[in-house]
Amino acid sequence: MINDVHINHPVELDRHTLHLFRVSPVSMFLSSVTGKLENINPALIKFLGYQQEGIHLPDFITEHQNQFNLSQTLLNTIETDAYDPAVIDFEFQHQSGDIIAAELTVIPQLDKAGKIVSYISQIVAVPTQKIATEHLQLASLVYDKSSEGMLVTDKNGVILDVNSSFTRITGYLKSDVCGKNASMLSSGQQDKLFYDLMWNQINSTGHWKGELWNRRKLGSVYPVMISINTDFDSNGRVNKRVALFSDLTEIKAKEKQIFQQAYYDTITGLPNRSLFIERLNHLINLKSSQESCIALMLLDLDGFKEVNDTLGHEAGDVMLKETAERLLLCVKENGEVARLGGDEFTIILHDINLIENTVQAILKKLSQPYTLENEGIYISGSIGITLFPDDSDDVSGLLKRADQAMYTVKRQGRNGYSYFTHSMRQKALDRLTSINELREAIEKQQFVLYYQPIVNLSNDEIFKAEALVRWVHPDKGIISPDQFIPIAEETGLIIEIGKWVVNEALQQVYVWRETHNVDFQLSVNESPLQFKSDENSFKNWFAYLKKLDLPGEAVSIEITENLLMDSSESVDLKMQKFKDANIKISLDDFGTGYASLSYLKRFDIEYLKIDKSYVQSMEQDKDVLILCESIIQMAHKLGILVIAEGIETQSQLDILNSLDCDYGQGYLFSRPVPVDEFELMITDKQHQS
Ligand code: C2E
Ligand code: CA
Ligand code: CA
Repeated sequence: MINDVHINHPVELDRHTLHLFRVSPVSMFLSSVTGKLENINPALIKFLGYQQEGIHLPDFITEHQNQFNLSQTLLNTIETDAYDPAVIDFEFQHQSGDIIAAELTVIPQLDKAGKIVSYISQIVAVPTQKIATEHLQLASLVYDKSSEGMLVTDKNGVILDVNSSFTRITGYLKSDVCGKNASMLSSGQQDKLFYDLMWNQINSTGHWKGELWNRRKLGSVYPVMISINTDFDSNGRVNKRVALFSDLTEIKAKEKQIFQQAYYDTITGLPNRSLFIERLNHLINLKSSQESCIALMLLDLDGFKEVNDTLGHEAGDVMLKETAERLLLCVKENGEVARLGGDEFTIILHDINLIENTVQAILKKLSQPYTLENEGIYISGSIGITLFPDDSDDVSGLLKRADQAMYTVKRQGRNGYSYFTHSMRQKALDRLTSINELREAIEKQQFVLYYQPIVNLSNDEIFKAEALVRWVHPDKGIISPDQFIPIAEETGLIIEIGKWVVNEALQQVYVWRETHNVDFQLSVNESPLQFKSDENSFKNWFAYLKKLDLPGEAVSIEITENLLMDSSESVDLKMQKFKDANIKISLDDFGTGYASLSYLKRFDIEYLKIDKSYVQSMEQDKDVLILCESIIQMAHKLGILVIAEGIETQSQLDILNSLDCDYGQGYLFSRPVPVDEFELMITDKQHQS
């Protein structure tokens, strides 16, 4: 109803006021008592950015109805104090779309009775400019006093303005950079991809924040934290870009120092335990997805404590430093070296195929003297090795196992390395039981000798045989010497076994010389270990020979060629004693070691046994055949008889015969057999001939 009233009774201004309304340079509009827009003056039309000509006023008013309606709240306040114009902040939209802030003065129009009949509002945009100025002043204050460097560019990246902090940080004056492209500041340390990603983000969101390296006027490169923002115009086009940046040089240096202190060892400069753990963890995560292995070595220096105690901590530090350098040289880019603390170092190897080479190189490098206080000091290292993921799949498990492996080395006399693997441990356990069982075997005499004939190739006669030991194990049956001789050698038990073999063999040869052939000769193997270390072994031989009243030539001792190579005095002496007693020496497994034939001249050797590997490949490999031929010829020239081992086929025998080989041994004639079988064989042979 009220609306109808207003439509029917449009607001009327008196002539005088209406004139003012039309000609005033001040923007004004007229509202009804309900606040509804009724009229707009030409100044306001212009102020809003429109041309007066061609405007259809009623339509224009309808179009702008909403933004110039006076709110009921405002009208209520005016009504209570009708003679005071209300001044309020007001916003409206310019033809360009910009929002304009203005001050609105609303003046009520009264009739003669003093009743409000309409409102005239004046719009003044001056205060808007004031705000802008204040903003600007504030902005430039911030802009200039800020410790952050600031830089304003146009939409093409051309620098429009910079602040004083910019000059302080970069060394460039405003005049150096204004009008130039901001790219002049870049260091070239980030690649194209980096900038592509950065600009992608700026173009899509208007801003970017991150770290990058810029170049100062004098050339040095420095890290900055930079944030770039974009100022868009009313149509969403880029107007300007503002970059704010701070110099991170000091922060970075501090960070680096903190990192260095937290993660690196001060003495050696190597990563410390914390960094090592972090690195190993990282690698474990990385490798887990690749299904590949890494090796962890734990190195503990042997005798470092003594160095520290006698030469002092400074010398100790020098030694640690030098050790670190040596380790780095051995590991190179194949792994990572760290110092866990004290004299403990770790090495992570990325490729387990490099373990053996690396560990050997390290032990060798450590064995070189350290020059401390003008003295050459020698130490060594004990290294425990463990594998990821075989032994453990976490850092502490790996460290624990490497430690266990390292202590195994310490127990075994240091200066070496040992693996921790389950199979290794199993092997170690097996070995332990074997050792105990072997001890028992000696006590209980669980050994027997088998005999293998050595045949004279010129007449097929068997006047020689080789005694080969067997272990008759109560549960496992007959065990071949290859399986227990190495353990017997390592533990020294070989000496007891050797004594038993000599005793047994001499009793047997005594019998066969009585019953079969007076010239019968038995070959007996003597371990190089025994030959070298057991001073008394020849005394045993003499004692037994004497007891049985046997001449020396009843036996031949089989030794390996390598024994001759490291001829120590005791070896020479022993050889001489055997020779004096007329005990024959056979050189076993010839060709597998490194003795040359000419070298043999020095020793008085009766027999040379060509290794079975030669015999077995001489048919296929011409070089081997030629080698066998020349071995036989040379040996003959030196007065040495040749025995070919491992003859399995007739054709091998034929070749050896044609090469003038003296004796043969092998499955073709017979396997090693127990006494009674051997006796049967030789009596049969005797009956045949
Ligand atoms: P060896 O001194 O080279 O002994 C010859 C080995 O070759 C024997 O192995 C023998 O059975 C094997 N053999 C003989 N003919 C053939 C053949 O035609 N083909 C093949 N494939 N093999 C043949 P065995 O008896 O197992 O002895 C192994 C090694 O154990 C011996 O090698 C020797 O080094 C050591 N050994 C044996 N008995 C003793 C011993 O009483 N004392 C010491 N210290 N070592 C012994
Ligand atoms: Ca032998
Ligand atoms: Ca042999």
